[in-house]
Amino acid sequence: MNLTFIGAGSAFSLESFQSNMLIESRGNRLLVDCGGDARFALNRLGLGAKDIDALYVSHLHADHIGGIEWLCFSRYFTHSSRPELFINNRLAELLWEQSLRGGMASIQERVVGLDDFFAAVHRLPANGIFDFGSVRCQLFSTVHYFDGYELVPSYGLLLDVYPEEFDIASPAARDTAPRRRVMLTTDTQFCPTQLRDFYNSADVIFQDCETSNWKSGIHAHYDDLCTLPDAIRAKMWLYHYSDGKLPDAVAAGFAGFVRQGQTFSF
Ligand SMILES: [Zn+2]
Ligand SMILES: [Zn+2]
Repeated sequence: MNLTFIGAGSAFSLESFQSNMLIESRGNRLLVDCGGDARFALNRLGLGAKDIDALYVSHLHADHIGGIEWLCFSRYFTHSSRPELFINNRLAELLWEQSLRGGMASIQERVVGLDDFFAAVHRLPANGIFDFGSVRCQLFSTVHYFDGYELVPSYGLLLDVYPEEFDIASPAARDTAPRRRVMLTTDTQFCPTQLRDFYNSADVIFQDCETSNWKSGIHAHYDDLCTLPDAIRAKMWLYHYSDGKLPDAVAAGFAGFVRQGQTFSF
């Protein structure tokens, strides 16, 4: 499995593109979030809408969904096949009703819905799991922000990566196969207590990290992440950072900052 950060910056970045990723397994590509920068970020890597086999959506901020109209219209009007969508079931409703519908519900003579733009919409329950190639993807909730008094999570992913040739649908194969666990936090506050078990179980962590000189409160800030235990920082890559000079994360015991376009192979 290859994991490529088509962007590694914050929502406001002008230097590193917004933090969206591409998972490649068995020749298929899963785009993890599709923000407003995605078409430029993919183009930088020689890719376009036609190259996306599936989309995963973590939450509804525009740096994660602002490019979906582009992706869907590009495929709907210019290509015969459509991508699949993997998304929490409650989020699917909100994505369409509160974000996409205004621009996408009406196509000249037709009134369409979310399902018209995807080959399949996989509406996943809380604690949902889906398989993509040789990767088993487990959703988990982060603490991203509060809507008044109600928590609005982002749905992170624990990726259990098996050898490409393994049949991961088989429980027996999964029991015996070697696997590596990759944690993608997506957007999250600094909440080491809530994420502790996931941090401990992961072989590699990709962590939302803001580097602004003020704290937004809805992202984990670098200064707070520096207080994590040594063993956690050593396997933690940082992304979703601000433009400008970055701190020396390696000297601080982290694996480093992810660079835009960087690929990790597992
Ligand atoms: Zn974001
Ligand atoms: Zn967000």
